[in-house]
Amino acid sequence: MIRKTILPLLFMLASCLTSTSQTTPAINNALKAINPDGIKASMTFLSDDLLEGRQPGTRGFAVASKYVETQFMALGLKPGVDGKSYIQKVPLQKGTIEESGCGFSIINNGETEALGYGKDYVMSPYYFNETASVKAPLAFAGFGISAPDLGYDDYKDLDVKGKIVVVIDQAPETFPSNERAYFTSRDAKFAEAIKRGAVGFIGFSMPDNSRTSWVATVRRGKQGAFRWVDPQGKPANAYEGLKSVSTMNYTSAKKLFANSGKIIGEVYTQIKSGKPLSFDLGLSADLKVSTKFQFVDGSNLVGIIPGSDPKLKDEYVVYAAHVDHFGIGAAVNGDSLYNGAHDNASGPSILLQIAAAYKALPAAPKRSVLFTVVTAEEYGLLGSDYFISNLPGIKKENVVANLSIDMPFFFHPVLDIVPYGYQHSSLSKQVDAATKVLKLKISPDPFPEQVVFIRSDHFSFIKKGVPALFIKSGFMTVASDTVDRSKSDVAWRSTIYHTPKDDMNQAFDFDGGATHAKVNFLIGYYVSTETARPTWNKGDFFGKRFSGK
Ligand SMILES: [Zn+2]
Repeated sequence: MIRKTILPLLFMLASCLTSTSQTTPAINNALKAINPDGIKASMTFLSDDLLEGRQPGTRGFAVASKYVETQFMALGLKPGVDGKSYIQKVPLQKGTIEESGCGFSIINNGETEALGYGKDYVMSPYYFNETASVKAPLAFAGFGISAPDLGYDDYKDLDVKGKIVVVIDQAPETFPSNERAYFTSRDAKFAEAIKRGAVGFIGFSMPDNSRTSWVATVRRGKQGAFRWVDPQGKPANAYEGLKSVSTMNYTSAKKLFANSGKIIGEVYTQIKSGKPLSFDLGLSADLKVSTKFQFVDGSNLVGIIPGSDPKLKDEYVVYAAHVDHFGIGAAVNGDSLYNGAHDNASGPSILLQIAAAYKALPAAPKRSVLFTVVTAEEYGLLGSDYFISNLPGIKKENVVANLSIDMPFFFHPVLDIVPYGYQHSSLSKQVDAATKVLKLKISPDPFPEQVVFIRSDHFSFIKKGVPALFIKSGFMTVASDTVDRSKSDVAWRSTIYHTPKDDMNQAFDFDGGATHAKVNFLIGYYVSTETARPTWNKGDFFGKRFSGK
């Protein structure tokens, strides 16, 4: 009798184990290899004052790189560059603005008003020449977006050829969260302006943009900016036709509307609700930018666990985390060293634990698993873009998925996750399976206005057509909690994020960090083990745009 009832149960159990949401003794063993103290130790080293904020091209960055390289060695990862080296060199061009050589004048019926650098405006480097200038009429192009597939086009009735476009650095609230993030990016706005023949770009934010503040914009401008350089010496993702790119504060930007007969607040209310409104401003501007260049060697680290399946081993699941930060810059409360503990000493530290989990498996998964610790994320996702654009001995179509780890938020136990990218590809299946095993809930994007989806390295992969995920902690609380986590996360972003205060004197929950290692390990493990490769969802906005699928 007993046998009769137990057998079907055993059969059911066996069939469960072959489905995606499996846990096996081997997987449990791998999960146990993830060590919260290991995360703490790596973060403590990488964010130490000795590394001076890990800015690309500095000694501190080189020490951080050397640390990761030796950890890859200790883990027994295979060198990912020609099978010999862990280091992929990333040639970088650094541009630092010479404030005294910049100028911004508004020309109104022959009258000229000169604006103040740092007070009214800041300039972005022009990468093609040490000086550049442009004098042209101004046209307000709304958010600078042309998205007919979302029923929105700022350029529909506006000719900007030979003009300087004035653009709000945001996007309609009516767009879905990740599409809104994409269209908020300067890259998308630049590409559209160039396509339409614009010769300059002025961006500004409305006061409701919690993502940025004028003080932070000015501080950030002093830290310089980078582009990676191709073998011909040409900066990648730079826009030669835009002779000047500047950012204005809101109060000063209002002056540009003096002759338009429109009130910017009213215009904004209309366009953010999804109804475009663009027009010539009846003014001109005379813009000058002066940039000092420096050419530095950045580096990505690449380590591989070769797959065990003779065919699938040519395909790669890629984990990425950036190790760079802002170095030494503008002082805040007398401290000028940007330690970048959470952003992003935490990412490589978690990535190393994920690699340890894979190494604890009795056999490698079918697909190869690649770990890359990249440079210059803080300057526009440059290291990851360089990696996917210059893959070391790997075909791009063989990169099947990316998981990126960047300040995932672990100031508390992690009960739920926000998996950015979940709604776009079949990777949702592996997220569902992993969260089930780890008893985590899945939550929607809590703050679309933060445009998180475009703000880390996974987006470099998305732009090259690779399905990707970027996992952050959600805001769920336990009964004993006394803090409102949503408020504390938002507060962190406005007070500590990208300041010297992001150091190890913060209440990290390293078990929460380990939860991120576990969930990323499991998702990647399932992807690397299943025969079918991830696919974009049918008709998906990003799939269609970047992979044609
Ligand atoms: Zn950052």
